[in-house]
Amino acid sequence: MMNEFELIEKYFTRSPRRAKLGVGDDCAIIAPASDMELAVTTDTLISGRHFFPFVDPRKLGHKALAVSLSDLAAMGATPRYFTLALSLPKVDEDWLQEFSRGLFNLADSFHCELIGGDTTCGPLSITITAIGELRKPFVLRRDAARAGDDIWISGTLGDAALALRVLNKQAKLPEASFAYVADRLEQPLPRVALGAALRPLAHAAIDISDGLIGDLKHILDRSGVGAEVWLECIPVSEVMSSQPLEVQYECALAGGDDYELCFTARPNNRNEIEAAGKEVGVRLTRVGHISGGEELRLLDKNGQSAQQLLQQMGLQSYDHFA
Ligand SMILES: [Mg+2]
Repeated sequence: MMNEFELIEKYFTRSPRRAKLGVGDDCAIIAPASDMELAVTTDTLISGRHFFPFVDPRKLGHKALAVSLSDLAAMGATPRYFTLALSLPKVDEDWLQEFSRGLFNLADSFHCELIGGDTTCGPLSITITAIGELRKPFVLRRDAARAGDDIWISGTLGDAALALRVLNKQAKLPEASFAYVADRLEQPLPRVALGAALRPLAHAAIDISDGLIGDLKHILDRSGVGAEVWLECIPVSEVMSSQPLEVQYECALAGGDDYELCFTARPNNRNEIEAAGKEVGVRLTRVGHISGGEELRLLDKNGQSAQQLLQQMGLQSYDHFA
């Protein structure tokens, strides 16, 4: 059977491009370009917790990297490097071939280079640390929202959560509709180009990984502000809009796994933001504004508070320790 070093050599070693030293030594060596800073993020995906054990390994390779690149996108950083720590119950070469194919397809599309990592025998889990470059002084941070800012969302929300419901047999969809939402769950596209375009235009940003409510709250908490969000403006896909309103709200507000960006910006920048969205081919929707208080208020189409409705539905964002 293949040992650890043969496995790394066969599936995870490529000649270094931008890195000064890549896979194969005790450490990799990298340097940011001049007047750039480095942004660093780590995510772990665990079998049975974050993905089904039977998931297509090629799609898993894509998603494992996509979730980290989404964090870089939320800062406005350009992906450059990543490391991979892989825990495997056994060496399955077919699985490794497909996993590495999905991983490198996405990495190559963003010119993001694997520079090191670790493999070990154990329950299946994947940890990726991604490193991006940011041009000073522009960075999108959670603590930069200001009262009066518009709140924007990229793409549509809730599709991944709807796919999960179908997989868990809590909902049914026609085959083509399921294929669409399953793709959103299994192969999210990190909004890297959008994040970069927003750098000079937006104040605060976050990627929506745990549901809009929970992730927007992170911006509000860190910025010391409140927000009003208009429920009827939350962007949903055609597939989602065929679902009962309650399902739409649950999936779009608290579903998780969207990997869209939520960001805030001055109303004066609306035209430029819309132009930036068109430029990178991503739908952008204004869903509310930042207010002076500390509350997150959800409003229905009559401007009435929808808080009670949402509490009745027991809405919370995904909490990893719940
Ligand atoms: Mg994030």
